Amino acid sequence: MISIKTHFECEIAHRLYDVDTYSSECRENIHGHSYKFDLEVARKGRRHLNSSGMVVDFKLLKEVLKQFEKKYDHSVIIRECDPLQQPLILNCKKVNIVEGNPTAEWMVEEFKDEINDLIKDLDIEVVELQIAETTGNIAIWRK
Ligand SMILES: [Zn+2]
Repeated sequence: MISIKTHFECEIAHRLYDVDTYSSECRENIHGHSYKFDLEVARKGRRHLNSSGMVVDFKLLKEVLKQFEKKYDHSVIIRECDPLQQPLILNCKKVNIVEGNPTAEWMVEEFKDEINDLIKDLDIEVVELQIAETTGNIAIWRK
């Protein structure tokens, strides 16, 4: 398999809600991270490269990823059962309500699916997604 990897970053706020085994500072406060994404993609099917000799044009991939960044950069991700949901929706422009707790592990699972949906017309798929919440704390999804 031949793959390519790209890096991008998003500033995202989140709060973990209704969890017992997480540090209280992160559980009780909305707080943000400068999330660092390392995304690796490969072509679907048997051909490793397209007719131009690429997995996909980096520029094309970056264009598609702008949709993802538009949705999540400078946003708040909060769980649907969190009581802060309504005040945030009323007072913030970018609020993403999700079913699970928005941990880095949840993000790699969820974001892998969202990115796969965005790139499906490019005949490529995610083979690995790494999300660093802080330096050295990284969640990884791997095909
Ligand atoms: Zn956090």
